[in-house]
Amino acid sequence: MAKYFCGLCGNKLGLMENYSWLDDDTILCYECTCFNKKVLVSMNAEDSFKAILEEFKERFPEHEHARFIEHWHDIYDEKQNDSLSAEEKEQRRKQREEERKQQEEQRQQYEYNLKIENLTKMGLDGYYEYKVISLLDESGFFKKKSGSVDTTAMTETLNQLGIEGWHLVTAYSNELGKNAMSGGVGGAMLGTNSTVDENILIFERFVRINR
Ligand SMILES: [Zn+2]
Repeated sequence: MAKYFCGLCGNKLGLMENYSWLDDDTILCYECTCFNKKVLVSMNAEDSFKAILEEFKERFPEHEHARFIEHWHDIYDEKQNDSLSAEEKEQRRKQREEERKQQEEQRQQYEYNLKIENLTKMGLDGYYEYKVISLLDESGFFKKKSGSVDTTAMTETLNQLGIEGWHLVTAYSNELGKNAMSGGVGGAMLGTNSTVDENILIFERFVRINR
């Protein structure tokens, strides 16, 4: 028990603490248990429910929100559901979807900022980003019907990647046996005993960070 941490505020739980479970995976410290109760009570009025979610967002860092807000919204919706028309349910669903999208963007932004912060701490002025292209990708992007590589299309793509700052660092061939081919990689039609080379290209680009 001693090693449990509160899933909401992240604090370590005291040995004698009155904790509770938010769901199967999340334990709450006493303070957050009280807050959770407050949220549940607030659900009796839409305004107070919204207000307490705002309070929650202010109390805890952005990236921790989504899961809890979703959890509370689920309970709230469950409570409301009987009294809602189909139209209102649909509207609510769209609203939730929009909120989730925003939260995801905020989370990505947060993670990006964190990455930049760490790089800055290490005294680095950027990082390498990688991209892997397979010449036998599902779309058969660089393959002609004959199975040969479409060099024109490939040149075009390489040039486009160059403009975007990507630089080819290495390329290698991977021989795929018939097992790998039975899934019909790249739409290639091959006999049961054939093998095919999958050409892998690895690109990198340096992303400079602004300080
Ligand atoms: Zn807590």
